[in-house]
Amino acid sequence: MIDIQKIRADFPILSLNVYGKPLVYMDNGATTQKPQIVIDTLIHMYSAQNANIHRGVHFLSEQATEAYERARQTVREFLNAELSQEIIFTAGVTSAINLVAFSYGERFVRAGDEIIVTVMEHHSNIVPWQMMCERKGARLRVVPVTDSGELDMDDYQRLLSPKTRLVALAHVSNTLGTVNPVREAVCLAHQAGAHVLVDGAQSVQHIPIDIQLIGCDFFAFSGHKLYGPTGIGVLYGRKELLDEMPPYQGGGDMVDCVRFEKTTYNELPFKFEAGTANYIDAVGLESAIRYVRSVGMDNILAHEQDLTQYALKELLKIKGLRMFGMSEKRVATFSFLLDNIHPYDTGMVLDKMGIAVRTGTHCTQPLMQRYGIEGTVRASMTFYNTRKEVDLLCEGLEKARQLFS
Ligand code: PMP
Repeated sequence: MIDIQKIRADFPILSLNVYGKPLVYMDNGATTQKPQIVIDTLIHMYSAQNANIHRGVHFLSEQATEAYERARQTVREFLNAELSQEIIFTAGVTSAINLVAFSYGERFVRAGDEIIVTVMEHHSNIVPWQMMCERKGARLRVVPVTDSGELDMDDYQRLLSPKTRLVALAHVSNTLGTVNPVREAVCLAHQAGAHVLVDGAQSVQHIPIDIQLIGCDFFAFSGHKLYGPTGIGVLYGRKELLDEMPPYQGGGDMVDCVRFEKTTYNELPFKFEAGTANYIDAVGLESAIRYVRSVGMDNILAHEQDLTQYALKELLKIKGLRMFGMSEKRVATFSFLLDNIHPYDTGMVLDKMGIAVRTGTHCTQPLMQRYGIEGTVRASMTFYNTRKEVDLLCEGLEKARQLFS
């Protein structure tokens, strides 16, 4: 069990007042708040360990390089990946997926091949594949979603064929909260001879991850959704594939020998890390990983499951509330509409009560289209949220209903 008051005290922003009311932060799907230890790590890096990495022989550069490479090891352990060369630092999930879409696409995708995504994907896991399909003459296929917000696994199986090169799917839906059966999806794809990229943007902060158990070929996540800094993220890639893939960007650090006649490239993972790496935020991310590990991913999961069940029960009691995403396997992310009230109006009422939720399409326009709606209100909770905050959310929704209905 976690000591929720102690946890909340670790996050300075959680004691803020908004419009004179205690902040109830339920926009964790967009970004999470940072514990003091991560903030302190960033201050320490800038005030005592800052020098560009990999290039200097001097003391500070060596210290910063060591810290950066240690952060890579920590990420490897966190994901249970086999090799640290398989851990590439990127700016976030979006840049990780674009890297794969470009580089994997160049090496492995031919005209007539197929890439499979799902209806519930974030735009970041749709558009890079569309762009790649356009470049390579490949075709995008889409797995449908059921009314309750789950992948239609029969349709998924039907879509898999010898033409399928790669499947790209979210581990957890940022809109519906659904936890997808990624292990099963990977097994089926591998049987069909396809590779799999798992978008872990909404899973790493909620569920213990074991890359080797999931068995996927690529996995991506963003630091800022895991209580770490913005501007840093991770691409895990299977070494055999990364070895064969061409560099995504050219520049310093990714090269071995530069000649006008011919340039050769650095080894993994540096081949995919052109330019000055974001070593400060990588170390900040490491600090965040150390923090969640000190709390315990299993403890986080247990607290969030309790919160999920409580929030679901309370939200469904509200008259006129229509929930999108009713999967049994889910995290505490809830998308809903209240009567015919525009999500923006509901969000405004909640805001004035100090409650931060997100409204709109959540970068999942095809999913909105699937349900025939313009957008939703999304409350996304995490391990520092409480039952009391769920009660406040429900009170706010009742108020919105009375005001607008
Ligand atoms: N995929 C999913 C499922 C997401 O929720 C998000 C962020 N909302 C992204 C991708 C993109 O993440 P980022 O903006 O950090 O690159």
